[in-house]
Amino acid sequence: MSTLASGLRVAHPHSIEEAIAARAQNPGSRFLGGGTDLIVNMRRQIDTPNALIDLSRVDEMAEIVAKGDILRIGAGVTIASLAGDASIAPYKAVVQAAEGIAGPGHRNMATVGGNLCQDTRCIYYNQSEWWRSANSFCLKHRGDTCHVAPQGQRCHAAYSGDLAPALLVFNPEIDIAAPKGCRRMPLADLFVEDGRAHLSLTEGELVVAVRLPAAPPPSAYAKVRVRGAIDFPLAGVAVALTSSGGKVGSLRIALTGTNSRPFLLADTDRFAGRAVDDKLLQEIDRLVQKQVQPMRTTTASSNYRRVAAAALARRLVAQLAGQGAA
Ligand SMILES: Cc1cc2nc3c(=O)[nH]c(=O)nc-3n(C[C@H](O)[C@H](O)[C@H](O)COP(=O)(O)OP(=O)(O)OC[C@H]3O[C@@H](n4cnc5c(N)ncnc54)[C@H](O)[C@@H]3O)c2cc1C
Ligand code: SF4
Repeated sequence: MSTLASGLRVAHPHSIEEAIAARAQNPGSRFLGGGTDLIVNMRRQIDTPNALIDLSRVDEMAEIVAKGDILRIGAGVTIASLAGDASIAPYKAVVQAAEGIAGPGHRNMATVGGNLCQDTRCIYYNQSEWWRSANSFCLKHRGDTCHVAPQGQRCHAAYSGDLAPALLVFNPEIDIAAPKGCRRMPLADLFVEDGRAHLSLTEGELVVAVRLPAAPPPSAYAKVRVRGAIDFPLAGVAVALTSSGGKVGSLRIALTGTNSRPFLLADTDRFAGRAVDDKLLQEIDRLVQKQVQPMRTTTASSNYRRVAAAALARRLVAQLAGQGAA
């Protein structure tokens, strides 16, 4: 354990076991991936860990390995490595999502695990300490009222990671390490619809890897954002589509930026066997608009994010069908 000039202690484990032990021995500590989310929040005093468990020397978490019918992506793999790895190329939505995350400098540092586990976001929360204190803080941190929905007792901060939806359309699992042992679960189960507690991880649990099935279907990812570069999604959509003879085989659509969790659109099975025509695209539009729940957590209006998410979904399905997804 080293100590920074600020007094903050940093552990540098070399294995998953050491990382889990260091976290358990230091209650109030946090795992540190690339720090591109956590350090920003620490500077704003949103997050105040008493020690950091730096994962950058855990080599076993920094590998992408194809074994049998699984591609295993270590949670310590950087976003830049992920985007450029030849074995990821068939998972096009993942490549497109990774290439659109933050800027090149961030992507060189940021990790898969950190991207999945990043904090939820809100214009009343991602602000300096003095800004938030002038606004009496908010329900998510140190306050007692949600400025977005003052009558309620729920935080609606939006999950805004790009990678999660792009992975979700491939139905992956994740490996989790904990003091009590390891477990595996669907990636979808990592996320909870609660802006204050949006991860199902328990204290001290570490995401170790993502397991993607081999032979992925054709896929794509797109997002709308305020700026054309270096910006979180106001709405992000991933689609995986198989089709033959112009008819849908399987269709999966996942969304980010609109809810407190990234999620797979429910009820897309009903499109199997249907032609990809205007009627079907309109139904997809309606389905997206029904299931997303954008709130006033960004500078863009909730309705814009709802309509934009639906438009992206429609466009990506049409694009993949036009490419002759097979
Ligand atoms: C200017 C700017 C623009 C950005 N734009 C985008 C964007 O467009 N899209 C986007 O998705 N993100 C964006 N981000 C957020 C951030 O850069 C990414 O989410 C990044 O991938 C986070 O990864 P990290 O390794 O740096 O996470 P860290 O900051 O290290 O960690 C984030 C959180 O995850 C936890 N954590 C890290 N690794 C693990 C693990 N293996 N298991 C369990 N918990 C873990 C940490 O304890 C922390 O709570 C942006 C950030 C900035 C500053
Ligand atoms: S949604 Fe409400 S409680 Fe959550 S961060 Fe925003 S203002 Fe705070």
